[in-house]
Amino acid sequence: MNKVLVIGCGGVASVAIKKCCQVNEVFTDLCIASRTKANCDRLAAELKGKTATQITTAQVDADDVQQVIDLINLYKPDLVMNIALPYQDLTIMDACLSCGVNYMDTANYEPEDTDDPLWRVVFEKRCKEKGFSAYFDYSWQWAYREKFEKAGLVALLGCGFDPGVTQAYCAHAKKHEFDTIDTIDILDCNGGDHGYAFATNFNPEVNLREVSAPGSYWKDGHWVEISAMSIKQEYEFDAVGQKDIYLLHHEEIESLAKNIPEVKRIRFFMTFGQSYLTHMKCLENVGMLSTTPVEFNGQQIVPIKFLKALLPDPASLGPRTHGKTNIGCIFTGKKDGKEKSYYIYNVCDHQECYKEVGSQAISYTTGVPAMCGALMLLTGKWNQAGVHTVEEFDPDPFLTALDQYGLPRSESHSPVPVD
Ligand code: NDP
Repeated sequence: MNKVLVIGCGGVASVAIKKCCQVNEVFTDLCIASRTKANCDRLAAELKGKTATQITTAQVDADDVQQVIDLINLYKPDLVMNIALPYQDLTIMDACLSCGVNYMDTANYEPEDTDDPLWRVVFEKRCKEKGFSAYFDYSWQWAYREKFEKAGLVALLGCGFDPGVTQAYCAHAKKHEFDTIDTIDILDCNGGDHGYAFATNFNPEVNLREVSAPGSYWKDGHWVEISAMSIKQEYEFDAVGQKDIYLLHHEEIESLAKNIPEVKRIRFFMTFGQSYLTHMKCLENVGMLSTTPVEFNGQQIVPIKFLKALLPDPASLGPRTHGKTNIGCIFTGKKDGKEKSYYIYNVCDHQECYKEVGSQAISYTTGVPAMCGALMLLTGKWNQAGVHTVEEFDPDPFLTALDQYGLPRSESHSPVPVD
């Protein structure tokens, strides 16, 4: 019997919860808790009679550590799955430590208020020292390592697709394909079309912050930062076709550079259509991506939060999104003294996801790995105490679970390289 507390009930959490309910021999009891309890109740009602998993719901504001502690003490879960927003990572980790419960999430910490003077001091120091200026980095959560180790608890960070599966692909490449890896290119392609001129596939605020930031990559032991969207290439993706790809900063580059130290270069590329980029640039130019509040008619409004209210809810894109995603990693390196290259990726169809769980493929490709990561923790396959990213664990059982639960891998031993 395993009791799991899921915090958050948005696009990604809904998929993860539905997938947990498909594996009810492990996920026997779930509590779905979020800021808006009505969303949890709606999902619980949808699942009633369709699963043997016992589901309860609760209201929680996870920005408040004490509320999370009270809920954990009441429900007594074996694991807390944080599928709310990156803003809540630290408060939920604090609550897990205080109550002695394992923790996992799907994205690394960033603050909601980037004007917070205390946070800005640390941020600006890091920008200077490390050389990348994204709002998120691992330092905040890595600072909890010793505390989790001492408590004998596991914190699994970033267990979605990217971050998440991409790091398991790296661990797999290192374990089975290479003696040494020289380069890693992570390619995230969304060939889906939802028919809107502009919409984001996951939380708009988090998504737009990420893609409007300067890009950066790891080269010969240091970060190289470039202006946003200034490196563009074309790539022919299996099952999708030719797409424009842009170099972005992405969180898993930071942990991979640490955990596979021989790698000389790590880059992350994502596809974007011209319409998305034009809209984003325009919104940025007029100040709509700003997180600094402005006064409007006597009220304080955060522009990017107002924009979120105007944009389609990513969870509503499911019925109208057609096409496929293709996300994976291309490696170069050496095996038995010979140069080789290797590509491992997953292709996922938006409409197939919608038929199965009522969501588009971006929520699906994040929610399924979250469930599989929870499965690894609950079944004791990943049990090393401390704060860890996915590449630090054995990739074999995780990739087998992904193959089984909806995200099977494809491989090529002669991939076309990215320039
Ligand atoms: P949504 O905005 O759809 O859902 C967020 C959920 O969190 C909502 O249910 C929201 O409640 C809840 N929430 C927000 N603040 C609080 C709070 N203070 N207390 C309790 N609940 C709260 O986001 P997504 O589902 O699109 O994304 C979820 C996470 O997945 C994000 O961290 C995102 O960055 C990550 N992600 C990771 C990917 C990966 O590959 N690793 C890819 C895509 C996303 P309410 O309804 O009240 O707003």
